[in-house]
Amino acid sequence: MSNCCSIDPNAERTPCPVCDSTGPVIGDKPVKAHLPDAADGQWQHCATADCPVVYYLGDDTVTTEEVKAQVAHKALDKPRPVCFCFAHTADDIAADLQANNGVSTIKADVKAAVADGFCACEYLNPSTKCCLSDIHRTIKAIEAARPTR
Ligand SMILES: [Zn+2]
Repeated sequence: MSNCCSIDPNAERTPCPVCDSTGPVIGDKPVKAHLPDAADGQWQHCATADCPVVYYLGDDTVTTEEVKAQVAHKALDKPRPVCFCFAHTADDIAADLQANNGVSTIKADVKAAVADGFCACEYLNPSTKCCLSDIHRTIKAIEAARPTR
């Protein structure tokens, strides 16, 4: 089990407004990765397989239709991200490297978010592991695939 994230185990939790099961608190950063205008607050992740709700905050919900990438075992029809907390796909990372002369700002951002405890890999990454090593591997693979000049 990953210990890269520090989700407050004492944060108040409420049941999902659709399926009524209570999910873990993941904060608002992973929600804003999909919907930048999402409300601030202690959002929770609904882990019920057949429930359309991915994130909820009270009665406010973000569904599998609204997310832009796969989250945990939900929205499987959407792109599978490398970083599940912040919805960064391999394409995003390649574009980021291209735009920044081969320096990944995504990796730096994720590192900072992890250091501040804003990630929830334990709940949002199907592997339950921190994605930083996957990001590192993805960057190496992109670099290796780049034509030599
Ligand atoms: Zn639910």
